[in-house]
Amino acid sequence: MVAVDTRNRPVDGRLWASTPPMPTIESINFCISRLAAYLTGHAEEVDAKVMDQMNVQRVLVVGAGIGGLTAAAALAQRGVEVEVVEVRDDATVYGVGLIQPANALRALRSIGVLDQALAAGFRFSANVFHDWSGELIAECPSAFGPEVPSYNALGRPDLHRILLSAAEQAGAKITYGVTWEALEEGRSSVTVSLSNGVRADYDLVVGFDGLRSALRRRLFSTAHEPIFSGCAVWRVTMPRPQRSPT
Ligand SMILES: Cc1cc2nc3c(=O)[nH]c(=O)nc-3n(C[C@H](O)[C@H](O)[C@H](O)COP(=O)(O)OP(=O)(O)OC[C@H]3O[C@@H](n4cnc5c(N)ncnc54)[C@H](O)[C@@H]3O)c2cc1C
Repeated sequence: MVAVDTRNRPVDGRLWASTPPMPTIESINFCISRLAAYLTGHAEEVDAKVMDQMNVQRVLVVGAGIGGLTAAAALAQRGVEVEVVEVRDDATVYGVGLIQPANALRALRSIGVLDQALAAGFRFSANVFHDWSGELIAECPSAFGPEVPSYNALGRPDLHRILLSAAEQAGAKITYGVTWEALEEGRSSVTVSLSNGVRADYDLVVGFDGLRSALRRRLFSTAHEPIFSGCAVWRVTMPRPQRSPT
């Protein structure tokens, strides 16, 4: 099992109550090489090389949300046998809108679904924040090269449908109403007991089980529990303009 967590830092000026595991040099190098690959647009080549070096052939993805389905599609497209377990009983997701900046759009492009996401969404060039009186606080453009627009906004059900289809078309097998119950780490694989009674070996187990990830707690105990920042946001649903400005 590979666990990379580089968030060993104070949050809101407070130190973590307990000391989380320090990131290794390998994990830091891995993160830097991934970042460099994305910035230079060579992520796919590096991904394939990393997967080859690790000899990863069979992967369990926990959670069929945005991250899990994207990872499932990307891995399966590279020839990896991917199983996804999702604790919910079906693929239904709530219908809130999502804004995806250029880095997310680049990831969608790398799994071949950018055009579908753009067709389902609304493109714009910057996020603009005002205070309660209308005073401009910040304008955040999001440029990441010419291949992708700055932002695309779309409904979560649309994104989910697109990612699910990409994962399934690439051959990922998704099982609903199932989660992991126990993990036993061997030298080069992980034996996983699932809640449906299945027990199987995987080269890699990847946790995309959301904000309150049980898998993260299994790996890091309570060291990385989410902390409320004190900020909140109100969202309203409005009719979409007829035409994208960009
Ligand atoms: C109201 C709202 C608005 C948002 N707006 C934006 C936005 O505009 N732009 C943006 O980029 N992000 C937005 N986000 C954040 C975005 O939704 C998350 O960053 C994203 O969903 C994280 O992806 P994920 O795959 O890690 O988790 P999720 O998408 O939450 O998926 C986790 C999945 O794991 C499943 N799961 C949980 N526990 C288990 C388990 N034990 N076993 C198996 N499966 C499990 C869950 O059922 C779920 O399907 C918003 C979030 C909310 C709540």
